[in-house]
Amino acid sequence: MPLSPDQLAEIEAARANPLPTLRATSPGMEAHLYRAHQVLDHGFIRVVDYMGDDAAIVQAARVSYGAGTKHVQNDEGLIRYLMRHWHSTPFEMCEIKLHVKLPVFVARQWIRHRTANVNEYSARYSILDREFYIPAPEHLAAQSVVNNQGRGEVLTGAESARVLEMLKSDANRAYDHYEAMLSQNGQLGLARELARMNLPANIYTQWYWKVDLHNLFHFLRLRADEHAQYEIRVYAQAIADCVRDWVPLAYAAFEDYRMGGVTLSGKAIAVLKRRLAGEVVGQVDSGMSKGEWREFLEVWG
Ligand SMILES: Cc1cc2nc3c(=O)[nH]c(=O)nc-3n(C[C@H](O)[C@H](O)[C@H](O)COP(=O)(O)OP(=O)(O)OC[C@H]3O[C@@H](n4cnc5c(N)ncnc54)[C@H](O)[C@@H]3O)c2cc1C
Repeated sequence: MPLSPDQLAEIEAARANPLPTLRATSPGMEAHLYRAHQVLDHGFIRVVDYMGDDAAIVQAARVSYGAGTKHVQNDEGLIRYLMRHWHSTPFEMCEIKLHVKLPVFVARQWIRHRTANVNEYSARYSILDREFYIPAPEHLAAQSVVNNQGRGEVLTGAESARVLEMLKSDANRAYDHYEAMLSQNGQLGLARELARMNLPANIYTQWYWKVDLHNLFHFLRLRADEHAQYEIRVYAQAIADCVRDWVPLAYAAFEDYRMGGVTLSGKAIAVLKRRLAGEVVGQVDSGMSKGEWREFLEVWG
C-alpha cells in the first residue's frame, strides 16, 4: 500500500472540510487534490496544492499584450498562440506542489530538473522503510541491442526468476544489515546518516516537489516521452493526467505542439521542399548525418 492508514485518514479529513476561497480554482484539479495516485509497486504522486488555472495564463498574457490580444478570438486561441511561439512566462503563473514517493534511482533522474523546489525525506533524521521497487515481470528486460540507453527483449522463465530472486534477496539482505547497524541492542550502533549508505538504489524515498507549469511541461516533454526510462515515465504520465484536468486548454496546446509536434532543422525543411517539388532526395544529398536522416525518416517516411 502506498500510504499508511493514518495518512489516508488525514487525506479524507482534509477533503471532507473544504473552505470557501476567493482564489481561482480548477474543478478538475480539486477532484485530484490530496489523493494519491499509485505509481510502480509502492510509489505514488499526489497533488498537495496548486495555484492558477487556464484563465490565469490568459490573464497574465493580456498584461503583456493588452489591446493587442483583441484579435485573438478566445482564451483557447491565445493559449495556443503562446505555446506555439514559446511565450512561456504566462505559463509560469501556474504552480503545482506534489508529494511523490519514488525509488532512489528514479529520484536521481528526476532531480536533474533544476527548475523546481524540493524537500526530501531525511534518512539522516529518520529510518527508511523496507520498501524496494521490484519490476513487474513484463518490465524485466535485457539490454537493448540497438539503443545503448534502453532495454530490449523481455526476460522470461528461469532467467526472469533468477534475476527477480537476486533483486529481492539483495535488497532484503542490505536492509537486514541496515537495521543491524542501526541496532542499539547492547552495542553503540551506527548513525542513521552512515548506515543508509549500504542501501540499494531501488529503495523508496519521498519528497515534496513544487514547480511552475512552464517547467513542468518541460519535465513532461522529456520524461513522458517514449525515450525516457519506463520507471520515470509512469510518474510523468500520472502527473500529466492531473495536469490535463487542471489546465485543459494549456495541456491540449502542450500535447499538440510539444508532445505531438516535431522540430524541423533548416536542412530538413529544405529536403521537404525538394520532395514536395517531386525530387527524390537521399541521405547523401540531404546534408544530414546518418543519425539525423534516420530520425527524419522516422517522422516523414
Ligand atoms: C532521455 C534522457 C536521457 C538522459 N541521459 C542523461 C545522461 O546520460 N547523463 C546525464 O548526465 N544526464 C542525462 N539526462 C539529463 C538531461 O541532460 C537533463 O539534465 C535533464 O533532462 C534536465 O533537463 P534541463 O536541464 O533542461 O531541465 P531543468 O534543470 O529544469 O532546466 C530547464 C531549463 O532551464 C535552463 N537552465 C536551468 N539551469 C540552468 C543553468 N544552470 N545554466 C543554464 N541554463 C539553465 C535551461 O534552458 C534548461 O533547459 C537525460 C535526460 C533524458 C530526458
